[in-house]
Amino acid sequence: MHPERLPVVVAGGGPAGFMAAIVAAEAGVQGVHLLEATPEPLSKVRISGGGRCNVTHACWDPRELVAHYPRGSRALRGPFSRFAAGDALAWFDDHGLELVEEPDGRLFPRSNRSSSVVDTLRRAAEQAGVTLHTGLALQAAAPAAQGFALELRGQTHPLTSGQLVLATGSHPSGRRLAGALGHSLVSPVPSLFTLALAAEPLLALAGVAVDPVGLILELPDGGSQRQQGPVLITHWGLSGPATLRLTAFAARQLHTSRYRARLRVDWSGGRSQADLEQLFQQARSTQARRLLASARPWPELSRRLWQHLLHRSGVEPERRWADLTREQQRHLISALRDSVYAISGRGPFGEEFVTAGGVPLGEVNLATMESRRQPGLFLAGELLDVDGITGGFNFQHCWTSGWIAGQALALQLSES
Ligand SMILES: Cc1cc2nc3c(=O)[nH]c(=O)nc-3n(C[C@H](O)[C@H](O)[C@H](O)COP(=O)(O)OP(=O)(O)OC[C@H]3O[C@@H](n4cnc5c(N)ncnc54)[C@H](O)[C@@H]3O)c2cc1C
Repeated sequence: MHPERLPVVVAGGGPAGFMAAIVAAEAGVQGVHLLEATPEPLSKVRISGGGRCNVTHACWDPRELVAHYPRGSRALRGPFSRFAAGDALAWFDDHGLELVEEPDGRLFPRSNRSSSVVDTLRRAAEQAGVTLHTGLALQAAAPAAQGFALELRGQTHPLTSGQLVLATGSHPSGRRLAGALGHSLVSPVPSLFTLALAAEPLLALAGVAVDPVGLILELPDGGSQRQQGPVLITHWGLSGPATLRLTAFAARQLHTSRYRARLRVDWSGGRSQADLEQLFQQARSTQARRLLASARPWPELSRRLWQHLLHRSGVEPERRWADLTREQQRHLISALRDSVYAISGRGPFGEEFVTAGGVPLGEVNLATMESRRQPGLFLAGELLDVDGITGGFNFQHCWTSGWIAGQALALQLSES
């Protein structure tokens, strides 16, 4: 690789690295080299969003956007006030990719194919003059006169760079590089996973989706987390947006408890005790002769879930509404509002998953993404201790941190 001194090296050909490299090169930086360890850059973008790539989320206000980041949260207000979801939308539009909003706020490329995002980033990098090296991993980096001494895997000749961007995602090599350059690391744990319930009759309802469901996770250390929203019952436990949000916010606590906890579930759609008593009263009078199994207290309640709750409450499904005792009603309302399940472990990941942990935000100047430990070193993307819930928020942080790093290093070079 020539010349031996490279002005800017970006390690990591993922969304954060591409964004940093393109923005720096478009701002006039000559000699931006983007190193990707594997033969194929942007591989997570390609598989993301079930092959559709959920690029960002229609959440335009930075103050609201930060609420979607269990790690990062309010510290991201500054970065998002510089480059948020609306800026990402405009950036992609300027680079020839139209994003389309879905009813739930997620933004996808109009083509519905992640390859459009990959192609857009690759084309923008090429047009801006970024040199992409694939199959080339940064193995070691040490501070040197006016920059960094770099070692590339499989290369023996010495190489230096003026500035270095680490955008290596959750890969251990990037954490090792950041550690060697003076950073501490919050240990990585998985986020955005589903929940397993062992030997639970509820599993027979696999495929039933309920919305909204209230979830309260009670952890052995006395802590708790709440979420509300759609839940999908699967053959191993619970999935769906509310479950994924819950595991994202409780990722660390669940890891500490070895994924054992109690889950209190409100299947009633948030109805109060009084509302439910009234609905039961109505059912007793309007459906008095009908069997409980075939007549639900309200029509939107899933039939299979209702039958499960009858079984759980010990109420015979062949009983008629008119014969439901006060005691049985109490048990049923309690099962609807507050069924308790034992979490037995972590279920498989959903369509999107990320790692919580990485370089603490306090060690980075969030106005520039430059390291506070090592001048000339910039950090972006999932390598940082930032992660979002599902819905495009993880990529948004990559666009934001990559954009800020690219701008800042260009400014630094122009001033030097
Ligand atoms: C299946 C799946 C689906 C997802 N879907 C979505 C979605 O739809 N929306 C969303 O917002 N988020 C999604 N995510 C999360 C998102 O993919 C990540 O948050 C994002 O890719 C992180 O970007 P990054 O650039 O920080 O790291 P990465 O995308 O991991 O890129 C880092 C790159 O650096 C390379 N690398 C590592 N070490 C070195 C080294 N030493 N030298 C050179 N190169 C190196 C790696 O090979 C990799 O290509 C999904 C994740 C998964 C796993």
